[in-house]
Amino acid sequence: MIDLRSDTVTQPDEAMREAARDAEVGDDVYGEDPTVNELERRAADLVGMEAALYVPTGTMGNQIAVRTHTNRGAELLCERESHVYKWELGGIAQHSGVQARTIDGGERGVVEPEAVHEGYVEHSDHRPGTELLCLENTHNSKGGTAIAADHIDDAAAAAHEHDVAVHLDGARLFNAAVALDVPAERLTREVDSVMFCLSKGLGAPVGSMLAGSEAFVERAHRNRKLFGGGMRQAGIIAAPGLLALENRERLHEDHENAARLAAGLDGIDSLTAHDPETNIVLVDLDEPAASFLERCEDEGVLGVPFDDRQVRFCTHWDVSEEDVEAAVEAVERAV
Ligand SMILES: *Cc1c(COP(=O)(O)O)cnc(C)c1O
Repeated sequence: MIDLRSDTVTQPDEAMREAARDAEVGDDVYGEDPTVNELERRAADLVGMEAALYVPTGTMGNQIAVRTHTNRGAELLCERESHVYKWELGGIAQHSGVQARTIDGGERGVVEPEAVHEGYVEHSDHRPGTELLCLENTHNSKGGTAIAADHIDDAAAAAHEHDVAVHLDGARLFNAAVALDVPAERLTREVDSVMFCLSKGLGAPVGSMLAGSEAFVERAHRNRKLFGGGMRQAGIIAAPGLLALENRERLHEDHENAARLAAGLDGIDSLTAHDPETNIVLVDLDEPAASFLERCEDEGVLGVPFDDRQVRFCTHWDVSEEDVEAAVEAVERAV
């Protein structure tokens, strides 16, 4: 089976399994796990932030960020297809008592500064008041679009003009950095916090990082406990995470495979593949996604439904160039 559902399906390699076995550990709730502490230091450096916090999932990282940046009853601004709004079970309302005002980021999910000014709501006796802008890079629902640093800077500057904090959902931040050929820290320069996943293209079995100022991470640490994310000898899972950080440069292979996959699929009648910018390929269908995916599975390829007539295929560490060719042939048979 060629599993193109997500870049989260990768198997940890031998080195990661050995690192887990050999990790030096302590109780991370007391801040005493040396492996977690090292991972947090390295992660903070990579994104140019003062500090970072190891969290079990990207979702928890985003939710902790929202909770840490906002007060109950506030409003946050986000792109209308953004993960924090669309794919996290309404968590911002459930966990933080915050409501969303959404911005249409167009085909690529770019939040324009004008839209931030327009969406901003001043706190008053009648209005909740905007306290946070959430950006996303790469933008998952828009097909893994890599948003240029200037766009992130401009949206953040617009938010800051209103004293609104900015959180970047960078689940696939390093995919964006590789695609744009800039250091990740260039993409986070103007934001106040950033979350990125170790468990996606970087290949770790589990874990995400939430980074920001020392003061932010101190408060986030408290909220991680509140959200049930305080872990004990977490060095066991943080050790593969440290190795995952070294997998940043190989992400270009996933991007090249995604381009090959899109080209192959686009050559099939009745399918229209979007041009991928990173490792995500969106495909428009002329039939319902469910029946299409069922037949793909029969032929040995897995994807996920993204819309009634759209599916997502994702390339990753465990997908080779040969797998991509085989996947195209399998989909052709399915069609
Ligand atoms: C996957 C993803 C997340 C959540 O990460 P999990 O570890 O699956 O909870 C958040 N934001 C974006 C854009 C994602 O693609």
